[in-house]
Amino acid sequence: ASASEEKDLVIIGGGVAGYVAAIKAGQEGMKVACIEKRGTLGGTCLNVGCIPSKSLLNNSHLYHQILHDTKNRGIEVGDVKLNLANFMKAKDTAVGGLTKGVEFLLKRNGVEYIKGAGSFINENDIKVELNDGGETTVRGKNIVIATGSEATPFPGLEIDEKRVVSSTGAIALEKIPETMIVIGGGIIGLEMASVWSRLGTKVTVVEFLGQIGGPGMDAEIAKATQKLLKKQGLDFKLNTKVVSGDKSGEKVKLEVDAAKGGKAESLDADVVLVAIGRRPYTQGLGLENIGMELDERGRVIIDSEYRTKIPHIRCVGDVTFGPMLAHKAEEEAVAVVEYIKKGYGHVNYGCIPSVMYTYPEVAWVGQNEQELKNQKIPYRVGTFPFSANSRAKTNLDTDGMVKMLADPETDRLLGVHIIGPNAGEMIAEGTLALEYGASTEDIARTCHAHPTLAEAFKEAAMATSAQAIHF
Ligand code: FAD
Ligand code: NAD
Repeated sequence: ASASEEKDLVIIGGGVAGYVAAIKAGQEGMKVACIEKRGTLGGTCLNVGCIPSKSLLNNSHLYHQILHDTKNRGIEVGDVKLNLANFMKAKDTAVGGLTKGVEFLLKRNGVEYIKGAGSFINENDIKVELNDGGETTVRGKNIVIATGSEATPFPGLEIDEKRVVSSTGAIALEKIPETMIVIGGGIIGLEMASVWSRLGTKVTVVEFLGQIGGPGMDAEIAKATQKLLKKQGLDFKLNTKVVSGDKSGEKVKLEVDAAKGGKAESLDADVVLVAIGRRPYTQGLGLENIGMELDERGRVIIDSEYRTKIPHIRCVGDVTFGPMLAHKAEEEAVAVVEYIKKGYGHVNYGCIPSVMYTYPEVAWVGQNEQELKNQKIPYRVGTFPFSANSRAKTNLDTDGMVKMLADPETDRLLGVHIIGPNAGEMIAEGTLALEYGASTEDIARTCHAHPTLAEAFKEAAMATSAQAIHF
């Protein structure tokens, strides 16, 4: 990077938020630099998040299915063995291919990719400590902060990524632990618990709240999910808070307190996964040099056009408000460039899907029953079980259901909640319907191919607006 040349846009962070903004700005003909210190692009999502975890989830499911779900399909398999090193290599191949692909896309769109750690010198100049040694400065007319998030640590229990791990350690264990305790029954906790449990680890999930899956998950769906995961061998301690931990012994020990009526007890395991949430990451960014303050949760404060209090410095992704999701970061990245270039942009925060990639998958978009009740919004419910869907029956894979919530007066769709095979793909249909303000009758009258799992989606809409045919 040359110190003299001013860029139209400098982006700090090359995660999903940063690299997508960089590509979009390149496409808009802007002069762009993207600073990333990790050594590879793609951020948490591509390197240690979405992508590697889905590789492990997909392949552990395959392994588990070969072990436990073939005989009834008339398939007899011989000696099935897991090669953990190669299992991890498959994950690394997926990650490597995608991060290199992103680097290629930046190049193709004329983005200057600067490998190093960026920090504000003043409101326009960024110092970059280069990964290869030395430093440079880069000047931006506009700057986007996209520095992401990191795992929230558990006080008093230091993460060593071997025995006490965050998700980063949990996707890279070198041997299959006999026992594992997961602190936090949110999405990271349940996805990682599923992976290791399928490979043979005895996993206990300790969750502070009375429900798994985090706050967005519909309570009825969360209960059904817990039941299915329990059947797969996971143990749950709900309404239970981990209060302290000690890793000085052979096993990692945890003291837990039952929040409601239960008793305090000690638990121990070979590996403890800390999955109690993530927090914004702004360390070393030099925000103090530009007088930028954070909110009480460490988030960069922005307005509806992603502007910080210094108008030409904007911020998107995990480091600011909203759900910490890659596709949310991606939407914001496009919108922020549009605001800079054209003065307008758009993200519909009421229409961001969530997917938990357990088996079966759990997916939702819009509002859940608890949220509607809390806001005293009237609603109608329609459900359709996969046990009544011909494709699910053919696949011998009938656990779960599609649930829809709609306005009782106008029939407008308010939320979709799915637990079942392929829920993560099916939710796209719900998201599109919600985005376009569909009524459930609109969905019910849309022809769906037979035999598909998506017919359960149509029939849930029929059940909401009138009556399902097959249930
Ligand atoms: P990040 O991806 O964290 O990227 C920020 C980047 O900025 C990092 O690479 C960092 O090195 C860099 N950086 C920070 N400071 C500086 C600096 N000063 N100078 C230079 N570079 C800097 N979301 C989903 O939607 N679906 C999923 O399936 C999913 N699975 C996940 C699984 C796990 C285990 C985890 C941990 C997260 C998962 N997420 C998932 C969340 C998703 O990863 C994040 O929402 C997403 O990565 C946010 O993108 P971001 O660009 O805002 O931040
Ligand atoms: P989370 O906030 O979803 O869940 C953390 C859970 O830990 C909560 O249910 C909380 O009640 C519980 N908890 C907190 N302190 C506790 C304690 N002392 N004892 C017991 N339980 C405690 O956070 P996460 O699962 O760590 O995920 C972080 C972020 O990453 C989320 O925003 C998530 O959306 C994102 N993510 C998304 C995906 C996906 O989209 N598939 C996958 C992984 C991560």
